[in-house]
Amino acid sequence: FDPVIVVGGGLAGCECALQLAKRGVPVKLFEMRPHTNSPAHRTDGLAELVCSNSLKATRIDSAAGLLKEELARMGSELLQCANAASVPAGGALAVDREAFSSLVEEKVGNEELIELVREEVTTIPTGRVVIAAGPLCSPALSEAVLELVGGSSLSFFDAAAPIVDAESLDCSVLFRQSRYGEAEVGDYLNAPFTKDEYEAFIDALVTADRVVLKDFEHGGLFQACQPAEEVARTGRDALRFGAMKPVGLTDPRTGRRPWAALQLRAENREGTAYNLVGFQTNLTFGEQKRVFHMVPGLQNAEFFRYGVMHRNTFVDAPHVLDSTFAVPGTQVRLAGQITGTEGYTEAIASGLLAALNTYADLIGAAPVALPKTGALGALVAYATDPATEDYQPMHVNFGLVPSLEDGVRRGKRDRYRAYADRALADFEAYLATRDELFPMKGASR
Ligand code: FAD
Repeated sequence: FDPVIVVGGGLAGCECALQLAKRGVPVKLFEMRPHTNSPAHRTDGLAELVCSNSLKATRIDSAAGLLKEELARMGSELLQCANAASVPAGGALAVDREAFSSLVEEKVGNEELIELVREEVTTIPTGRVVIAAGPLCSPALSEAVLELVGGSSLSFFDAAAPIVDAESLDCSVLFRQSRYGEAEVGDYLNAPFTKDEYEAFIDALVTADRVVLKDFEHGGLFQACQPAEEVARTGRDALRFGAMKPVGLTDPRTGRRPWAALQLRAENREGTAYNLVGFQTNLTFGEQKRVFHMVPGLQNAEFFRYGVMHRNTFVDAPHVLDSTFAVPGTQVRLAGQITGTEGYTEAIASGLLAALNTYADLIGAAPVALPKTGALGALVAYATDPATEDYQPMHVNFGLVPSLEDGVRRGKRDRYRAYADRALADFEAYLATRDELFPMKGASR
């Protein structure tokens, strides 16, 4: 094999390089640090965790835990490092970040087929390439990626609204209706507010604790998209004349137009998850739960994803990448957070998948098509489905998996357990058909 160029010695890049090398493919792994630094990295170590040291839950009946199980079954190298560097954290996998980075560095160093080049890549290299330069991809390479994917398909900030579990919504309060019948009747769920409820909600919204942004994030964030709490701060009625305008809506319980309405729009075709339209927010997760539970009909809402706003370089994957995260018509594939998937473990998974798909290309095998019932398969399906509108970074969550459709009513825990059981059965059955992608002696899967 000719060497594959992997750009970025972060979570996705290191996993990708190690997986390719394990399969006998030589890799040139480029990492720009320490010569060029990102605004968030503090060390020159490979696979540096830039913020929290947690890779989230381990229990299999959580989407994060299921993803780890899938990674383990595919022989993830960085997951092994994380387990070896773990520190006590209850039901989560948290690591000693320096030990984790050192273990990854050691693995990469011991791999004869990986050549580590400490140099910034500023143009798209020729040959087979995996770009895993992360959410803080250097400006020169960002420009080159933008040119490659075209138009305005690269974002530098994300501004995501919370997403809630449809099963946790109170449909005796919410009503289905579109303003002025401008779309199909079933497109929106509306949460109607009385004047008092609206006033109390606005008070809570403008006084809630917000995430403290890092210096480098202040720049263009608020030009990119205003958080709802900032809009509310410009005037008590600002939201009532904006995202929460009640015009064109009639609450069937009262027969009248509500004082204000928060709209929820389905996140997927099955309507198992809903986003709070126009409610991109920078409140802390705890405050989001408290404040959004004040919304009529959302008093028991379970959050699949909280709203986030941060500096984040990512492409409009559903519209510019194929189902393997490759740029169509090129030998360039993207991996990690730059594809718009979000989270440490997701980045590792994305790197592993990029390696499997690159290897499949090299040996002339079919691309990887993981079952959509799994944590990773569902995330990939969401991120590469051209029907996904207004693509915002997403971490794994059970709102992305198809519903069970067996007619059985279950509580949340039982439902998640059933998702996990179905996912692992489908996952094993699929992997059993793809032995050619796992040719290693004493394969780690
Ligand atoms: P990275 O791990 O960032 O790796 C990319 C690598 O590419 C870096 O080492 C970088 O130096 C290098 N690079 C960039 N440009 C070039 C170039 N031109 N040439 C050569 N090398 C280059 N996720 C969580 O799950 N939990 C968190 O707490 C969390 N906190 C975050 C905080 C911040 C400030 C940011 C920006 C993101 C955070 N994320 C978090 C999201 C995400 O999970 C991490 O950013 C994760 O590290 C992404 O993995 P990656 O491999 O895509 O990118």
